[in-house]
Amino acid sequence: MHKLEPKMVLAYYFLHFTIPETISADIMVDNIDMFKNDVRYRENIAHIETIPAKEASFRKVNNLNERIVDYLDSKNVKLYEHQAETYEAIKDGENVIITTPTASGKTLAFNLPIMETMIEDKDATALYIYPAKALSNDQLHVLEGMEEELSIKIRPRTYDGDTPREDKRGIREKSRIVLTNPYQLHLILSWHHQWSRFYKNLRYIVIDESHYYKGVFGSNVAFLIKRLKRIANFYGSYPQFILSSATLANPLELANRLTGEDFKLVDNDTSPSGEKDFILYNPFKNYVRKKINTQNAPSVHMETENIFMYMMLKNIQTLCFTVSRKTTELIAMWAKKDMTQVKGKLAHRIAAYRAGYQAQERREIEEGLKSGKYLGVTCTNALELGINIGSLDAVIISGYPGTMISTWQQAGRAGRSNQKSLAVLIAFENQLDQYFMNNPKFFFDKPHENAIIDLKNPILQEAHLLCAAKELPLQRGEAEKYFGISQNVIDGMVARKDLHENHRGDFIYPYDDSPALDHSLDQISSEEFKVMNNGKLLETMERSQVYREAHEGAILINKGDTYVVNDVNLKSGYVNVSKEVVDYHTMVLNQTDISIRKKLSKTKYGDLTIHFGELTVSEDYFKYKKMHFSKAIGTYPLELPPLKFNTKGLWFTIPKRVQDTLEDMFPNEEEVFAGGLHGAEHALIGLFPLHTMCDRFDIGGLSTNYHEDTQEATIFIYDGYEGGIGICEKAADVFVELLNSTIDMLNNCQCQSGCPACIYSPKCGNDNKPLHKNATKYILEFMSKLISNEDDSEIEAEVIVEEIVIPDDFDEAYDLYKKGDYSASKDLLNNIISNDKRHARALALMAQILYEQDQKDIALLFTKKALSADRSNEMANELEVLLTNKPQKEMVELNSLDDVDTLYEEAYDLYEQGDLATASDILVKLLDFDDRNSEALALMGLIYYHSGIFPKAVEYYKKASKINKNGEMVRELKMRVA
Ligand SMILES: [Zn+2]
Ligand SMILES: [Zn+2]
Repeated sequence: MHKLEPKMVLAYYFLHFTIPETISADIMVDNIDMFKNDVRYRENIAHIETIPAKEASFRKVNNLNERIVDYLDSKNVKLYEHQAETYEAIKDGENVIITTPTASGKTLAFNLPIMETMIEDKDATALYIYPAKALSNDQLHVLEGMEEELSIKIRPRTYDGDTPREDKRGIREKSRIVLTNPYQLHLILSWHHQWSRFYKNLRYIVIDESHYYKGVFGSNVAFLIKRLKRIANFYGSYPQFILSSATLANPLELANRLTGEDFKLVDNDTSPSGEKDFILYNPFKNYVRKKINTQNAPSVHMETENIFMYMMLKNIQTLCFTVSRKTTELIAMWAKKDMTQVKGKLAHRIAAYRAGYQAQERREIEEGLKSGKYLGVTCTNALELGINIGSLDAVIISGYPGTMISTWQQAGRAGRSNQKSLAVLIAFENQLDQYFMNNPKFFFDKPHENAIIDLKNPILQEAHLLCAAKELPLQRGEAEKYFGISQNVIDGMVARKDLHENHRGDFIYPYDDSPALDHSLDQISSEEFKVMNNGKLLETMERSQVYREAHEGAILINKGDTYVVNDVNLKSGYVNVSKEVVDYHTMVLNQTDISIRKKLSKTKYGDLTIHFGELTVSEDYFKYKKMHFSKAIGTYPLELPPLKFNTKGLWFTIPKRVQDTLEDMFPNEEEVFAGGLHGAEHALIGLFPLHTMCDRFDIGGLSTNYHEDTQEATIFIYDGYEGGIGICEKAADVFVELLNSTIDMLNNCQCQSGCPACIYSPKCGNDNKPLHKNATKYILEFMSKLISNEDDSEIEAEVIVEEIVIPDDFDEAYDLYKKGDYSASKDLLNNIISNDKRHARALALMAQILYEQDQKDIALLFTKKALSADRSNEMANELEVLLTNKPQKEMVELNSLDDVDTLYEEAYDLYEQGDLATASDILVKLLDFDDRNSEALALMGLIYYHSGIFPKAVEYYKKASKINKNGEMVRELKMRVA
């Protein structure tokens, strides 16, 4: 192993920016050690982990281009081993993902081979994708520097919402390296013909900070990247992918899901680092909660400020991460105020940093950290990404940031290559934070999380297919090839007229608007609510968010300010709020109902079975409470229709004998079993993020003494998004680890009867009632015993794939229909269809009944819907023959615009006569010829409205009103859908 030579140290600093030495290394070690021995703090230290210093190892690369060799020589840079490995893999044509830490020289590693290609092929281009604008600016400076020193023409530019209009054309035509973000790419992909030079020569796609792409956003980006790949292929290029990421458990899986390609992993960090003390600091270490009250409880914020002040007074440059934008501001404010009293001249060296600040202000702070102007900065996770701020002496992490990945990214901000540094994690009183304080070994040994991307969400699949078809006609087989989506999905979209099959057999997007504009990368559904403050747009949210955070009377927090929600209009999609300073917050309560739609698999761990499948969840938000700290000061009813969605989740059952035992153990207490189940649900959900990368708010749960579908006591845990997002599917794989850590957590919690560190949940819809800590423990331990009933000490999961559709209300509806009770049967069918719009059997039976009741046109509509959901449905096929065998009306062939008018008149007449099916057939034909006919679009909307298909009616209203708001039919339709 090499020692760092003085000139290497210089070179290292050159590449990673310089911090002036203000304090000698020895004094720093003393100051850092002083903290852990200080009487004020040492009592609360749960653990100190010393991470040893590491020396660099270097490796030479052969056959480097001469200009690159000169460039490196001029800077006295030797390549670290992992940089050499990255370089070689890229030159070998492999897709590469690098997961070494921040400041380990990842960027240089992949920029070198790209620059080499740029030198050797003067047309070659590369696309760099960054999740945040600040990052692409950082990288732009690096690339501009290389362009100059290597004297090559690459014209690197960022292309995003901030790019001046007049520059855009030049970038498209001349730049060889373009930096952008997913939001921009999503919008400009359909303009690929303007970028043909760029796409034709595209050799590399760089996706930096790719661990950022997870959950809903990540799943959207994965589809987007595949759309990009399809465009590149169309222009004849097959670019190589280069991904960089923080350390995570499944880098290769993530890379593959994001791009659909195979990768080589580079993860051995060979850059140097100084020794680091990582301290787990628990303000609750010596505090036992007697009852649920907040009096006397330690304040994490105050502790954070104290430690922050301590560091600055010892001249230790410190970055303090907090969990919210509001806390970031508060702690900086308090610290400034207190510093004025203690050591006034330091007060102006304190600042707060968060997203939402102007780019200029942020830049000033970034530079100030590098130069040493700022001694202490509080920040949100905005500074967790690779923005270059140099390295600091210490990092305070106030509250576990939710993932190990974030934790290590944040801690990685402290530590110059040859000097001791410090990271302090200050715990909150919740399950996760306390779990770590009590299990430091787990914390430091724990592999990082799995980043989850789900490519099976049907809503995302369809949204991106629409975008792809808009970009280029989709050829048969392309959906499967690029997106892994089967032809059935396309067939369904054609049947619903979302796509159109042209004479060549390609599928095209038949409308003029841009589907990318209708689909946000941050969301699943396209239904969007606008939150307005004084007529100004504050933010947008999905329906479920409105129910949970912005119902009438709710206190909504936005950028640290509080707003009172005055009213919510679910139909128009507007939420009106006003800014008000209040001393309370609100908590909404809900009742959840779940039914199992389809069992997809069961995983057997010994005698414990974890089921996984499709669920229909109905959440009824029926009241909310105003809370002053943890005290309720009022309860108010809410009138919201239940929030229904289909999702995926896992469940397991607890046998009756457990209930009997528990009731014997606690004879004088009520709801022991229910309290135990409920506690187990909360505790498991609380530790979910330990094993899968998610926020606990991404998942929901339900526990019940008896569930109809399982006929036993059952606990459900589900993804909180329409269609599911892959979290619970992953959790079923790691259930044993999840269960074991949950039991550990409960055993370590010192409380008497439950607290926020074990079984209380901040988002419980039942107000944390009933809960029973000992019963919770008993139930979880019972489950653990079921697992270890297996003789083998190694627990092997046995996964059984099953595709069982649970008998649903449909059977009852069918019985009623057989008995001739049409109206009761229709009621039930309506229920089924409102839960599952593609329930083919229910749609077909509905059509059958309507047919028998002589409502033929509506019957035909339902028949078509049934067939689009399932082409093989027998009842619907028979009905189709019956219903379309009627004498055909004379149809006009379309030759001219005059014919359009004639057709429209005919459609209108039929509509007036109530023959909706024929009218809609004619309109389809008309719109094929002229898809900007607002009156025809509106009439189509009215037909949907009268057929009870409300979302389609709204959709047609949107299309029609975009073209002409004032048409007669458009206004008519507006009155219905408004
Ligand atoms: Zn507890
Ligand atoms: Zn609950």
